[in-house]
Amino acid sequence: MNKKMTAIKKIVTRQVFITREFICIVCPNSCRLTVTENDGKITVSGNECPRGEKHGIHEYREPTRMLTTTVAINGGILPRLPVISAGEIPKARIRDCLEVLYKMKLNAPLRCGDIIAKNICDTGVDVVASRSMYRKEVYA
Ligand code: SF4
Repeated sequence: MNKKMTAIKKIVTRQVFITREFICIVCPNSCRLTVTENDGKITVSGNECPRGEKHGIHEYREPTRMLTTTVAINGGILPRLPVISAGEIPKARIRDCLEVLYKMKLNAPLRCGDIIAKNICDTGVDVVASRSMYRKEVYA
């Protein structure tokens, strides 16, 4: 179980209670969410609006994140190309995806939206360039 998240598991007369806490990241209010599972029923408290309940359940069941980073590129006007995932990636796979991207070496030119890594780590999500990168000699 992830150490960063508070997890309390109590077994009381054959019923399993699991309580985890999250910060809602949907809006700047940053509500403290408490998600409780009791015999398969999930409830959320601490949310000030319905979006927090949806976020809390999603975080509890299958946390995902957009991935943004940079990849090394040869011959471009900058040494690294900013990239972004075309969709959300399971949080548990982010490290694997970053390892793949950090080992890559691209070649300029590339255009914004070009696919850099298709179906990265079999997540079903592509990683694309988030800006165009022209060749250095064009501006020399
Ligand atoms: S629960 Fe609602 S108000 Fe609170 S941070 Fe999430 S989206 Fe914002």
